[in-house]
Amino acid sequence: MSSFDAIVIGAGHNGLVCAATLAKKGRSVLVVEAADTVGGLAQDREFHAGFKAPIAHAASSFSTQVAKALDLPRHGLDFEPAGATYGLGEDGAHVRIIGDQISGVPQADHDEFAAYRQKLLRYAKTLDVVWHNTMPRIGGGLMDAMVYAQAALKLRLLGAEDMSEFVRVLTLPMRDLIDEVFVDPKLQGLLSWDGVIGSKLAPRSPNNAVLPLLLRMNGAAGGDYLVPKGGMRAIAASLVSAAQAAGAQIRTSSPVKRIIIEGDENGERATGVELETGEVLHAKKVISSADPKTTLFKLLGQRHLEIEFTNRIKRLRTNGLVAKFHIALSGEPEIVGGPDLRGRFIIAPSFDAIEFAYDDAKYGEASADPAIEFTVPSAVDGALAPAGQHVVSANVMYAPYDEKTGWSDASRAAFSDAIIAKLKRYIPNLDQISLGHELLTPLDLEREYRVTGGHWHHAEMALEQMLMMRPTYQAAQYQTPVSGLHLCGAGSHPGGGVLGIPGWNAARQILK
Ligand SMILES: Cc1cc2nc3c(=O)[nH]c(=O)nc-3n(C[C@H](O)[C@H](O)[C@H](O)COP(=O)(O)OP(=O)(O)OC[C@H]3O[C@@H](n4cnc5c(N)ncnc54)[C@H](O)[C@@H]3O)c2cc1C
Repeated sequence: MSSFDAIVIGAGHNGLVCAATLAKKGRSVLVVEAADTVGGLAQDREFHAGFKAPIAHAASSFSTQVAKALDLPRHGLDFEPAGATYGLGEDGAHVRIIGDQISGVPQADHDEFAAYRQKLLRYAKTLDVVWHNTMPRIGGGLMDAMVYAQAALKLRLLGAEDMSEFVRVLTLPMRDLIDEVFVDPKLQGLLSWDGVIGSKLAPRSPNNAVLPLLLRMNGAAGGDYLVPKGGMRAIAASLVSAAQAAGAQIRTSSPVKRIIIEGDENGERATGVELETGEVLHAKKVISSADPKTTLFKLLGQRHLEIEFTNRIKRLRTNGLVAKFHIALSGEPEIVGGPDLRGRFIIAPSFDAIEFAYDDAKYGEASADPAIEFTVPSAVDGALAPAGQHVVSANVMYAPYDEKTGWSDASRAAFSDAIIAKLKRYIPNLDQISLGHELLTPLDLEREYRVTGGHWHHAEMALEQMLMMRPTYQAAQYQTPVSGLHLCGAGSHPGGGVLGIPGWNAARQILK
């Protein structure tokens, strides 16, 4: 019977980061992945014969610390220079931002932009120590408090004025953060998108957007659009290479049926996994990158958990609101105004464009007039489509997981039509070159990627589900209440996105 120091459930990027980090420290590690490929949500899928797109199409948030610790450049990870982000206007007059540079806005906004971005980047870096460490236990000892002490010191180094400003903006709605500085509606829509994307939020929603925005800005690109050379799959490929070079084994097409629990007079502990095939694999530790509800309810079982903890996990907010829409194109999409196709395009030309789209979703309806972010990933990654042909990859808000008809054929068709109608206003030749499309609602994402609720972050990034409360305070140090069972995916601190940080923090915590 095989036995390992650690079995990692799931070869999404966080599971791979965790495995590579443990293996580098000499632990024997096996990764078991249900799908027939690695990478989870950060992997390509073929959605139309010969055409592929990744679910996560931007690697902007990936942690440079994790890349360095695992020596990922040596394993082939190389980021392309960032493309611009465009706030599209139907008339072809777009806002364009890249780094501190901005165009297409009134002079007053132009003058403010670099200072606004630098301020947020400073705050994002101030929180570096928070993102890249295990969160202290609430009521923990002196050692636990070290992270707070380091964070407080970093905060103090901002200086009194900046520190006060940092504290003030931390819980602002996106709208308040932005409209006290900028007046251009397209710029307002564009900037608020990066605070609300993936979450149950719109620009007016209180309290929860700025922290996730700062987490994104802490990544490799400082908030700019970034993809690795060779496309998003290059992230998982480099992680596989790093993990295998350190001795980890990776098995795909190996869904875990249950986590094995054994008990004695000292209590219960996780001792391995049973695969769907009935094969049993043993390990000193089981580390799951599947989302918390999947791990704790489907693979472990409530009977091994106390009622209070069970209720907390049950109440975790995990219903996704972002749909993915892919289109296969026979030629080049002609976007109005002719922006560089290697960019990222936001169709949300005002705060209200996002806010009104959100209103539908509050009542269980897909947005009649959705807000959209799209890229043309084939413009930077030729392997995604046949030569001369292209792919549109779109994140669409809002698509409630629990859509009121249960995503009937009619509601799916209506939503697809609304997305296409919206895109056509910005890509007038879309009809002529469209070969086929695919809509993935959160319900589809749940089924295909085994993520509860199809949620972008595995669990909503809201203050009560972040930091030392992610996923809940009894499991926020990557250790569940069951001995030997740990979490390392996006549902753990600091959260979702292609960051690599939960997997890295979890491995380092386990190694302590
Ligand atoms: C529509 C959409 C668009 C997104 N776009 C972006 C983006 O552009 N940029 C960005 O940074 N983030 C994006 N995200 C978020 C990002 O993709 C995720 O937060 C991140 O990829 C999660 O990584 P992970 O490794 O924690 O989990 P996952 O990628 O979900 O990996 C978990 C793995 O566990 C496996 N698994 C589950 N159950 C079992 C089992 N029983 N046995 C074995 N294996 C199992 C799954 O198959 C999966 O491979 C997007 C998310 C969505 C839904």
